Amino acid sequence: MKKIVSWSKRRGFVFPSSEIYGGFSAVYDYGPYGVELANNIKKNWWKRMVQENENIVGLDTSIFMHPKVWEASGHVDGFSDPLAECKQCHTRIRADHLLEDAGIFADEKMTEEEINQLLDENKDKIKCPKCGNKGNFSKVKKFNLLVKSNLGNFTGEWEKDSVYLRGETCQGIYINFKNVLDSTRQKIPFGIAQIGKAFRNEITARQFIFRKREFEQMEMQYFIHSEMAKKNYKKWREKRWQYYLDLGIQEKNLKWHQHENLVFYAQEAWDIEYNFPFGFKELEGIHYRTDYDLKQHSQFSGKDLSYYDPQKNEKYIPHVIETSVGVDRTFLAVITDAFKEEDLGDGKKRLVVKFSKSLAPIKIAIFPLLKNKPELVQKARAIYNKLKSKFMCEFDDNGNIGKRYRRQDEIGTPYCVTVDFDTLKNDTVTLRDRDTMQQERISIDQLDDFFQKEFSD
Ligand code: ATP
Repeated sequence: MKKIVSWSKRRGFVFPSSEIYGGFSAVYDYGPYGVELANNIKKNWWKRMVQENENIVGLDTSIFMHPKVWEASGHVDGFSDPLAECKQCHTRIRADHLLEDAGIFADEKMTEEEINQLLDENKDKIKCPKCGNKGNFSKVKKFNLLVKSNLGNFTGEWEKDSVYLRGETCQGIYINFKNVLDSTRQKIPFGIAQIGKAFRNEITARQFIFRKREFEQMEMQYFIHSEMAKKNYKKWREKRWQYYLDLGIQEKNLKWHQHENLVFYAQEAWDIEYNFPFGFKELEGIHYRTDYDLKQHSQFSGKDLSYYDPQKNEKYIPHVIETSVGVDRTFLAVITDAFKEEDLGDGKKRLVVKFSKSLAPIKIAIFPLLKNKPELVQKARAIYNKLKSKFMCEFDDNGNIGKRYRRQDEIGTPYCVTVDFDTLKNDTVTLRDRDTMQQERISIDQLDDFFQKEFSD
């Protein structure tokens, strides 16, 4: 993990937020290559979910919503983590994490009292991860994860007018269910997809971008008749698993986890876990949420959110299958999976990040062999100028060629093109493959076709 964190900063993928002010806990910024990778992840997800599915449409809803949305969703009352304070070092820690580290499972539905009892019963096993203190913790308090804002609060009465930054993107989908139905020709079953920021007052800021306070979700809500839900739920689980294989993630690093303790409205819930540097943890949740969400919003808004099927002459509140994944967790999984330190023999090593071609931030790097030979530089620039409108390219004339290759390996660029003295004679260039490190000659007028095929995804 340490290696990935330091590489992320050194190579411009992830920067800690507000670093010049000493940092800002659990908030991170994406650097020049990080933003390319994150954009590619989002583009890829959108293509798979929206573009390739006739019955899925997209939305982009606001971060701010009517405060009632969060009452209806249950977040105002129920969206909380149990927090305990170490009496020795005063660090506040999630009690369910303390218990989990000791091999004890705390159910989300447990009350403060029940968690306190568990902590008490297992005193000798529970240890502060910061200072090592055993079993000496304050009583647990539940802490709401919603992030409050003072938007439009002109009365100064904080509690009365609470507006929240959204804690998940799917609520924006539920409250627009009717709008989508009325403005498109979609019929049940159909899905609505959205990518956007979500905010949570996460207590434990740990594990790098795995748990952020401001993060991005890619969610799809599939609206369906209850009779069809089970079958489609299985289909979506299979599709989402395949999606990760298609992203180039190794199957051995993926695992299913079925929730044993379901929230009361869910019928079935599975997560896809990824083998992060700190172990298998949730990457995506695929949950069968029944008709809970639309029912709640119908009730709280007083608007009828049912669906009318004219063929069957049936009116009902659709059930929902949700697929929900974080951009940031996908980012971390993709990097973990692609990050390789290869032994080249003779004590030589190389760091290479083997991103799939569709996710690589830079697709092609173009070099003149020497920067002080204008005819080489001109030719390399001409190739760069031609390719850059179709592919994300980088021009580099800095340092020796070996160093430039190593730099591109470290940011995961699949191909490097070098213009050398032979180019001036016969219009061919050296094409170097990141993974095999093989080099071949290819004529300049074939480059376009070659890359079109390679990056056709
Ligand atoms: P966890 O149990 O790890 O806190 P969760 O069950 O609360 O996650 P969901 O509410 O199901 O997560 O959110 C769906 C997805 O959003 C998660 O699978 C994850 O990929 C992403 N996600 C949730 N919380 C965070 C966060 N704090 N930082 C980054 N990504 C997150």
